[in-house]
Amino acid sequence: MNETKLKIRIYGDPVLRIKAAPVKVIKPAHRQVLSQMAQLMYESGGIGLAAVQVGVSEAMIVVDIGAGLYKLINPKIVEKQGSQAMEEGCLSVPGVCIKVKRAKKIVVKAIDEEARPVVLQAEDLLACVFQHEIAHLNGKLIIDYANFLDKIKNANALKALKKRSKDEGPRAGSRLFF
Ligand code: ZN
Repeated sequence: MNETKLKIRIYGDPVLRIKAAPVKVIKPAHRQVLSQMAQLMYESGGIGLAAVQVGVSEAMIVVDIGAGLYKLINPKIVEKQGSQAMEEGCLSVPGVCIKVKRAKKIVVKAIDEEARPVVLQAEDLLACVFQHEIAHLNGKLIIDYANFLDKIKNANALKALKKRSKDEGPRAGSRLFF
């Protein structure tokens, strides 16, 4: 794991497609990455961020929808109920908005920074964000859920993102979040 300053990776960066490895032993470096991720998320006006989005292929996410910060390691969805479809944005796919159908209520199991087990129930927006971030850990992006029209609508934006995927991340004022 690399401890140089992390930056948000943009669509086109292959790291976004790699399945994150589970964290076996939590080291100080993991905690450092988690706090840097939280900082980056807040700086970017986001409500969630997965480690793969900062180029770290390990199963870690941070989430804060305005009701407190979650830092989760090895998160897994163990229960799903109902469905909802929200317009989602992504800090790794700035300028693109896709309506994604996901479960309305979920139960997430994970461990915290001290390796203590965590079980969380979430619904609505919070459930949506957890599902979005956990999908990142599996190499999935919102565009994978796009229907034909969404794909056409966003084709130019995606092409442009691919071109600048090696640049330094989302532009200031990006309205897109997780
Ligand atoms: Zn995202």
